[in-house]
Amino acid sequence: MTRRHITAPIVAIAALAMTVIGPTAPAGAAVPDVALRWAYLMKRSLNVAPQTAVYRKQLATQQVAVKARAAEMATAQTADNAARARLATATTADRAARSRVAAAQKARLAAKQELGRAEKLKPRNQAAVNRARTALAAANGAVNLRTKEAQRVAANLAAHTAAANAAAATLRTATGAWNAAGAAVADTQQKIVALGNAAGLAAMASKISKDVVTQVRPGFTVADTTQVYGVTVHKAVAVPFKRMVDDAKAAGIAISAGGFRTKERQIELRKINGCPDIWTAPASSCRVPTAIPGRSLHELGLAVDITSGGKTINSKTPAFAWLSTHAAAYGFVNLPSEAWHWSITGG
Ligand SMILES: [Zn+2]
Repeated sequence: MTRRHITAPIVAIAALAMTVIGPTAPAGAAVPDVALRWAYLMKRSLNVAPQTAVYRKQLATQQVAVKARAAEMATAQTADNAARARLATATTADRAARSRVAAAQKARLAAKQELGRAEKLKPRNQAAVNRARTALAAANGAVNLRTKEAQRVAANLAAHTAAANAAAATLRTATGAWNAAGAAVADTQQKIVALGNAAGLAAMASKISKDVVTQVRPGFTVADTTQVYGVTVHKAVAVPFKRMVDDAKAAGIAISAGGFRTKERQIELRKINGCPDIWTAPASSCRVPTAIPGRSLHELGLAVDITSGGKTINSKTPAFAWLSTHAAAYGFVNLPSEAWHWSITGG
């Protein structure tokens, strides 16, 4: 398998992971794909909780907005219903006023005809002419009155038509705002779902951790490491390790570590720790368990020996208890025979 070549399909993952390992990585940095993927999965996993909290806060605000928009829409609906009812009443009144004008005009026409007939009577009947003239004057008065009344009613109808149009526009705007608020809620809910599950992502990283070790080892150089609070670790684990130190501190547990060491230092430690020989005796045969040079994850910056308050931790310290509960969330697993030794595989 090509170990140090970034293939096209994972360029996107690599690009994201490069932001994890920082801008100091040289062009074409020789970190294997699987290590980039491990870093990417852990970054996503560690990002789930804080990002979910941000989205949940946003969601709560958006849900309040939906309620407010719904109330505004209900108010606009009530106003629209009332405006339509007033418009219907005004329309009915307008129709009635017009028909009263028509009736008055009809009556006036009859009065005019009556006057014409009275004026042609032979012999002339002055009393009948006078009555007809009086009746025509009254009919003219009625037409004027009904016409003015009809004009007033028509103006009222125009006002109610404008009011109904305005109420309908307000209702459309309010409905649009309510729809938009609902869409924003759905969008945020979808984002929360898309963030995924922190434990699931960490488990995916854990599954490939052995491959990370086997693929990092052949081409490893010191340039693949970086410093986290003075601890030298592989760039792939820098972000989770820093978060682990920060979160432990927030929980009242101060931790530091010895991370990367050279093969030469491992050889020295084999001597210091009284291993029966440097290259073959098992780690457990040393006074302090010490891996055979070339096999230690410290030589890749993928293991850390945890200290707390300047002392190497043991299984009875609060730091060990905290790590036992939480370290897996940062991709670190304990080697059971060494309480202080935590690595991405537990080896
Ligand atoms: Zn160790």
